[in-house]
Formats: sequence, structure tokens, C-alpha cells
Amino acid sequence: MTHDAAELARLDRAHIIHPYLPGSATERVVMTEGSGCRLTDSEGRGYLDATGGLWLAQVGHGREDLADVAHEQMKKLEYFTSFWEFSNDRAIALAARLAGIAPDPLNHVYFTSGGSEGNEAAIKMARYYHHRRGDTDRTWILARSKAYHGIGYGGGSATGFPLYHEGFAPMMPHVSHLTPPWPYRSDLYGGEASTPEQVTDFLIRELEERIAEIGPDKIAAMIGEPIMGVGGMLVPPADYWPRVREVLDRHGILLIFDEVVTAYGRVGQWFAAQHFGVTPDIIVTAKGITSGYVPLGALLVADRVAEVLLRDHGFPMGYTYNGHPVATAVALANLDIIEKEGLLGRATSMGAFLHAELQAQLGDLPIVGEIRSVGMMLAVELVEDRETRVPLPLDPANMPHDVIRRETGVIVRDSAHSLVLSPPLIMTEAEAKEAASALRGVLERTA
Ligand code: PLP
Repeated sequence: MTHDAAELARLDRAHIIHPYLPGSATERVVMTEGSGCRLTDSEGRGYLDATGGLWLAQVGHGREDLADVAHEQMKKLEYFTSFWEFSNDRAIALAARLAGIAPDPLNHVYFTSGGSEGNEAAIKMARYYHHRRGDTDRTWILARSKAYHGIGYGGGSATGFPLYHEGFAPMMPHVSHLTPPWPYRSDLYGGEASTPEQVTDFLIRELEERIAEIGPDKIAAMIGEPIMGVGGMLVPPADYWPRVREVLDRHGILLIFDEVVTAYGRVGQWFAAQHFGVTPDIIVTAKGITSGYVPLGALLVADRVAEVLLRDHGFPMGYTYNGHPVATAVALANLDIIEKEGLLGRATSMGAFLHAELQAQLGDLPIVGEIRSVGMMLAVELVEDRETRVPLPLDPANMPHDVIRRETGVIVRDSAHSLVLSPPLIMTEAEAKEAASALRGVLERTA
């Protein structure tokens, strides 16, 4: 059954519970097709996808090679049963492949269907690890304000936006939020930190104090996105994660990296952990593992944690779609494409190209405070005044990202007074220029 554009819009309003209708959008765009970095909606209008879907379309849209793999796997074995007593060849092959690309000693894999489930699993894993070692008081989870860890009660509680907690209380107890690393905003650090190193000093002092307040032997883990995505693409100072890791290690606290956004090439390496030179105990991944072609997530777990979880009867937490054969087959093919097409290197080179284009097109605008990027994660932070760095007041009826989409067909995201770009890693130079000039056209009128 096919519907015309008006009928699709009516049925959408009548039957779908969407999460939010953010910004100034009054009608949803109904997408019907995608190819590479291009999308087409139900009215035949074309778009340039500069967000890679929801930070995940690493290899681009509409690839027949991935569709063929899913098709073949469905014909061979679509699914049998959960992972308790059985396994399947595709999941085994993917787990071995992930262990091969992850930093040592992350050699064990727990499959999920997405990022929220992944963070639930990671938080439970951390508590259970300590429990099984007899450290039963270690229940606290450290997180950060402005963090986003999904919609579950565990990850959702670790999420550091009051907006996501409102109306859902009580959230999970024993979660404590620290200040996020955001060197551009020195006011977060009492105005006293003006260099990246001073930002880290402040945050490490706060971390030590918080651990002392809660009690070092009551804390199971700290969870953090290596680069905060939803929070506005916040890149920490280079010494932040190594120093956090050193403090946590000293107190026997596990480190969980939520790499749902940053893994699988987004920052120019397989994992952002490698970018920062820190190996956490658990890496939570999803999104880019299949470039979004089918839902899948995977936790990469360090040997010492897995060894405890796997004792006796193993880790008592499973669900229907652990290691789904079609999803894991597609993930394997997706990783092959990333490797064969050199997309890790391309994320670095195209990210630098797009950054330079944004700088050239927007650098002179007084409302552009900072342009920051790591690989193919980029943000343009909007300010009222470059000196004071006061965030630019935005008109909810005319948010810049909505105006850019409406007027130019270029899709970027709005995130905490920043315009965020996370394009497919296959983006061309011509497309990067198109995206940058679309931003210029709209922002120069806003300036
Ligand atoms: N963690 C991070 C850092 C995310 O950005 C997201 C989603 O955007 C999630 C977790 C939740 O993942 P999912 O939406 O697949 O449940």
C-alpha cells in the first residue's frame, strides 16, 4: 500500500507517538529515500544529510551491498532463539572481529539492540562485577551534567539534563553528576580556568572531592561520552580522560565509555578511546556498528571484568535479540566497508576539510563563537558576543537549523546553542562546501 504525501502526514499525526517535536518544526518531513549523503522526502524534495541520520550513517544511505547481506542472511537463518544456550555463526564472527579492532584488553562482547540498552547493560554489569567480588556496597554511578545516555532508568538517570528527568521521577538513586569538560565556557569553573589544563585541574579536584563525599568503596563506575554529543559536541582537554582514569583506578572504580556516537570511525579511529589514549573497562557502542541499516549495539568488555561476570553460571541478563544473526551479519559487512573504503582516514581528512570550509565561510560572523571538531563530529557554537561568550538568544519559531533545512535542504542538528554536523564519512568535498555555504547564507542574516 502506498500513500501520497498529504495522506502520509495525516496518518503520521493520527497514529505515531513521536519523541518530541523540537525547535520550530510544525510539520514533520517524511523521508522516503536515501542514497549516499542525499535524501528525498514524500513530496520529492531533496536534502543533504549533514547529520548522518542520528550520528550514525557512516557508509551513507541506500547501499545495495548491505541490503544484499541482510537479504542473504534472512534466507539462511533469520533468527532462532536467545543467547542463553545457543549461539550463531554471525554473532561469533562479529564478536571476534570487534575484539580484534578494540584496544586490548577489551576482548569480550555483549550484544544489545541499541545504545540505551547498552548503557543499561553497562551500568548493571559494573554493579554486578563488584557484587560478585564481594564489594556489595559499590552501587554509585558517577556521570556528568549535559551527558546523554539514553532512555532507560539507568542510563536515563546518568543522563545529565533535568529536561529528560521531568515527569519521570523518581530516577535511579545513587547517581551523582559532575561538571562537564567544556573549555570554551570558563564560567562553569567559577571563571577561574582559562587554559585547558586548568579546566582539567578543576574537574579532577571536583572528582576527588565527590569520591571522598560518597565514599570510594561505594562507587561502582563512572560513565561518560569521550566527546559529549547531545550536550553540544563538547571536546575535553587532552589530559582529562587520562587523569580521570588515573583517579578512578586508584579507587577501584570502573570506567565506562559511552561511545554510542563516537565509535566506528566517527572521530577518525575505530573508537574515541584510541583518540584519547585511554582504555576504559567497558565501551558501549551502537549506531555506527551497522551504519543504522538495522538496530544493533555491542558492549566491549575488558578481560578482568568479563572473567568475573562469566564465573559459575555467567552474567544473568539476557534478552530476545542478543546477537541477532541479521544485525550481526550487516555489522560485519559494514565494518568491512569502513575498512576497505578507508573511512577512518577519510573521517580525519574530510573532517579537517569541512572544518576549514566552516572556518572560511563563517569565521568572520560575530555570532560564531567557536568552531570545533574531532574527525567527522563538528559544532559551530553561536554567541551573542564573542568577548562575553553569552549564548545567542534563539527564536524558538525560527531556530537556525530549521531555517537552514527549510531554505537550503541541508540538514544539521541544533544542540545547546550549537549547530552540530556529523555527516556520513563518505561525504565529498563538493557536499562539504554545500553544507558550509548553506550555514553561511542563514547565519549571516541572523548575525
Ligand atoms: N548514548 C549516547 C551518547 C547517545 O547519543 C545516544 C543516542 O543518541 C544513546 C546513548 C542512546 O542510544 P539509542 O538511541 O540507540 O538507544
